[in-house]
Amino acid sequence: MPATAYIKDNRLPRILAGHPWIYQSDLLPLKNAPDDGAAVTVRSQGGSFVGKGFYNSKSSISIRLMTRDKNEELDEAWLRRRLEEAIDFRKKYCKPRECRRLVWSEADLLSGLIVDQYGDLLVIQTLSFAMDLRKEAIARILQQLLQPKTILERNDVASRKYEGLSESISVLAGQPPAPSPVRIGSAQFEVDWMRGHKTGTYLDQQDNWETVGSFCMGKSVLDCFTYEGGFAIHAALAGARCVQAVDISGDAVTRCRKNAELNKVSCEFITANVFDHLTRLVQEKKSFDIVILDPPSFTKSRDKLEDALRGYKQIHLKALKLLAPGGLLATFCCSHHVDAETFRAVALDAGFDTRKNLRLLATFTQPLDHPVLPAVPETEYLKGHLFQIA
Ligand code: SAH
Repeated sequence: MPATAYIKDNRLPRILAGHPWIYQSDLLPLKNAPDDGAAVTVRSQGGSFVGKGFYNSKSSISIRLMTRDKNEELDEAWLRRRLEEAIDFRKKYCKPRECRRLVWSEADLLSGLIVDQYGDLLVIQTLSFAMDLRKEAIARILQQLLQPKTILERNDVASRKYEGLSESISVLAGQPPAPSPVRIGSAQFEVDWMRGHKTGTYLDQQDNWETVGSFCMGKSVLDCFTYEGGFAIHAALAGARCVQAVDISGDAVTRCRKNAELNKVSCEFITANVFDHLTRLVQEKKSFDIVILDPPSFTKSRDKLEDALRGYKQIHLKALKLLAPGGLLATFCCSHHVDAETFRAVALDAGFDTRKNLRLLATFTQPLDHPVLPAVPETEYLKGHLFQIA
């Protein structure tokens, strides 16, 4: 019999509305605390069934609710069902892609688990104690469902420490990955699965690389925060007249050059701080037809929001100065603390200050393989706009 935890009445609505995180402060004192990672039944203060989840005494998220069905046991059969459902969802509703997200944590009702597919290689992240405890089972089930050549864990994620977990990168099953290009968006990329950002690269931007690319024919393009050249290479492949791409990381720029070669396109890659580089371009009175801004999240917490908004505003001001009437600004924000409206307001503010009237041509969001669960705001993070100078 799993242990039972009782939620305080005034904390229940958020949980009933679909959020799976139950904080220590949401609970009445536990009588018999379960082992970390073990299943626990969750009830209202009055005793009615709410769901079943996994417990962790080390985290401020004491319980992650995994089912709201009384009859479902949180065993290996349940785990297999959820993984099958997540994979089926992609097969049914998402564009067929060689590289894509297969499991997006809370949005796939698998709080704490991320699985990304890069052809016949899978990369997993287990970000909760319970998922980490089950990673061998997860690897075994994925092996049976998809027969990948390799399953890697990219658990070098700082938030694991809040769950009492250390960081680790290892091969969970199959061969160590050999460098071999994969198709992401409409281009080939050599991904560094052991060290690349996230699970290797920004799979969440592949649709947006293609969409922005479709505006680039014959244009001069500046790609700021290029990482491994996703936007820049798509712009060049789409027939841009010239592409300049900037990143502060020398390693990233080296990889960009390789990726451009792989796709037989030429771009100018520059290692520089975008803030300084934009200032220099403005001073030199340079102009571009299209500027792309895709910075890292300027804030990981709500209390740094004001600073972050100042940072976003600064790069927008400078980017707009480089654009003539008719020019395009594609701008992205990947912080879930900045919502789409606030982010749009930053761009419009910069438009006002530079006396550029902005026409909104498109809005961007995360792709369908990174679905959003509105009851869990943390699942929604990527937003963007394509503006034209009217
Ligand atoms: N546009 C990329 C993802 C960008 S990730 C894509 O679509 O794949 C953010 C990138 O910004 C990282 O590569 C990081 O090295 C770079 N970066 C962070 N701060 C920077 C700065 N001040 N100037 C230039 N690049 C920066």
